[in-house]
Amino acid sequence: MSRIVLADTTRADTKPCIDCGQSYERGACSSHEWRMTRRCLRCADEHLRWRLVLACALDVDTDCWLWQRSTRNGYGQLSVRDETEYAHRLSYRLFVGPLNADEALHDCDVRRCIRPDHLFRGTQAENIADMIEKGRARHRTLKGEAHPNATLSDDEVAALRALWATGQYQQRALAARYGVAQSTVWRLVHGVTRAQGAA
Ligand SMILES: [Zn+2]
Ligand SMILES: [Zn+2]
Repeated sequence: MSRIVLADTTRADTKPCIDCGQSYERGACSSHEWRMTRRCLRCADEHLRWRLVLACALDVDTDCWLWQRSTRNGYGQLSVRDETEYAHRLSYRLFVGPLNADEALHDCDVRRCIRPDHLFRGTQAENIADMIEKGRARHRTLKGEAHPNATLSDDEVAALRALWATGQYQQRALAARYGVAQSTVWRLVHGVTRAQGAA
């Protein structure tokens, strides 16, 4: 009995890149991913950079690169090898460097922007803190209060609760950060003072 062996590129460990022509190795990717790849890693990243840039429009006032395709929660998103990824995260990774578990945060405060130099790397807690600082600045500008920390806006209450929920902050630290008494923080995180979600 003779065995017929068919050439099957999906099982091969190397294949030529459609852009540079050099053969590249399968690496650690699954056979499913391997079937979908057509470029070596370097060319795949370069191709993605172009995909990102070409999906943006430049805001001439702010220099933001505004994502023109689909969004989620205001952030640009795109499909990369069957996975949905946030465009600003991908932009950071491809133009700046790895993010690992961190967030790509916006300096410009424009969620749809994916311009690499408008992004910086930070933790989720820093993201919340950043939101607080920006909320505070807005609070001050709008209300012009002499003591902006004396009372907390709804955003600040939500942010304070989110920080508390991370388990990384003591009530004393949160009290100092917001310029309120520790007892106020206690009441806020235990939902005594304001019902969660209420105005
Ligand atoms: Zn290549
Ligand atoms: Zn921007």
